[in-house]
Amino acid sequence: MTKRLIDLESLVRDNIYNLKPYSSARDDYNGSEGIFLDANENPFGTLNRYPDPYQNILKQKLAIIKNVDSRQIFIGNGSDEVIDLALRIFCNPGVDKGLCFTPSYGMYAVSSDINNIELIKLPLTNDFQIDRNSVTPYLSDCNLKVIFICSPNNPTGNLINKSDIEYLLDNFSGIVIVDEAYVDFADSDSLINLLDTYNNLIVSQTFSKAWGIAAARVGVAYSNELIISLFNKVKPPYNVSRLNQEAAISALESYDSFRENISTILAEKTKMKMELQGCKVVNKVYPSDANFFLIEVNDADNVYKQLKDQGIIIRNRNKEVENCVRVTIGSQSENEILIKSLKNL
Ligand code: PMP
Repeated sequence: MTKRLIDLESLVRDNIYNLKPYSSARDDYNGSEGIFLDANENPFGTLNRYPDPYQNILKQKLAIIKNVDSRQIFIGNGSDEVIDLALRIFCNPGVDKGLCFTPSYGMYAVSSDINNIELIKLPLTNDFQIDRNSVTPYLSDCNLKVIFICSPNNPTGNLINKSDIEYLLDNFSGIVIVDEAYVDFADSDSLINLLDTYNNLIVSQTFSKAWGIAAARVGVAYSNELIISLFNKVKPPYNVSRLNQEAAISALESYDSFRENISTILAEKTKMKMELQGCKVVNKVYPSDANFFLIEVNDADNVYKQLKDQGIIIRNRNKEVENCVRVTIGSQSENEILIKSLKNL
């Protein structure tokens, strides 16, 4: 049951609401047999035909796994495309605003800059949670259209309290995007199960992390049918190649190895936490619900540089969180090499 029905139509930019989308050559014929002389393709080769513009097979499989209707799914060229399209659908450049909680994933700011949309950045609390008092005054700004929440948050690694996300959904009349790129590593349910309760919620996920196919560039947005129809209107006609669709379908069909890889990564993560805590240069390992740790070291710039010189690449987050670096959980041998190097610094 929807708790509070937001008037979504009035949130959409007028030009998008009125947009007559590009109609793909095969929009009104989706059989695979036929003589296809409609799309100016080449009759020769194996990749000569345009892919399914709506990625129907992939959506049908995801719909079963995620327990949603396939019309509630949008597939993007990575979940970065979801971020960009959401801003383009709801925010008038130079007029409307987005909001995110920092430190967080950098593309919210970059996509906002590209689209000439002001992004309000509110600091998370000391334990990297949402500060309700600081965000509440912004919720009544009628030019604030989109709030980004990253949970588990990149680069801090922690889940954001569900009650705070629900507070925003209850009190904000714009769009709330919960970026769950790392949710499969967390011991927590996806907020997809709130889609029936809130019609202003978009949950984004990705095949780049737990599903292990970052190279294929497949991201997903889950929402209600109306919001998904807006994404479909605005997306480039063939935004996900056939190769990428097939890669995602084949990942879904290897569900056992998906679960096995996650367990292996989580077991390595437990080991890594102990090992990192035993390194002299490490002051603190922050709790993580993801496949990485935010680590406070004695001198982040120096640790980053020294590891880089040895061919070990980590992420220097010193500018976002003082003296912190972010380290992804790799394979057992990669992790061992990192720990050995850290111990020798
Ligand atoms: N959201 C978060 C929080 C991320 O960390 C990333 C990638 N690092 C993305 C989205 C983008 O993922 P994708 O590969 O699906 O574009």
